[in-house]
Amino acid sequence: MKECNQCGKCCTKYGGDGLSVSDEEIQLWETFRPDLVEYVQDGGIWTDPATGKQLDRCPWLRKTPNKEIYTCDIYMDRPDDCKFYPVTITQMVEDKCEMLEVQDLTDTKRAQDKLNKIMVDSRPPYVL
Ligand code: SF4
Ligand code: SF4
Repeated sequence: MKECNQCGKCCTKYGGDGLSVSDEEIQLWETFRPDLVEYVQDGGIWTDPATGKQLDRCPWLRKTPNKEIYTCDIYMDRPDDCKFYPVTITQMVEDKCEMLEVQDLTDTKRAQDKLNKIMVDSRPPYVL
């Protein structure tokens, strides 16, 4: 298991209509990041502030010029869905997450333990 290399696959896949946000998160944004609330419609993210329509791509995802490296414009305030990713080895395999190494596919228990350690500051451990 490697550290995230910011390949952007997860944000590209889930950043459109694949994210959810809790009422508590929205309430925090209302206080501290009202600019983000403009992209919330009926409790869903991310929507176009002008039309209210669902966006097909996360508006905060930025590609580094001339590199396949992606960053998040709202990293410190991103939704928990984003903070918690990746959660399971199965999900990482499906998404072709580039944190995976060959040996992670043969010993998923060990791989999950390593992933949980990498993610210790972001989410509770996931137990297989
Ligand atoms: S909010 Fe940030 S972390 Fe979440 S999908 Fe968008 S760019 Fe990725
Ligand atoms: S798919 Fe995996 S390696 Fe790529 S940005 Fe997401 S967490 Fe990082």
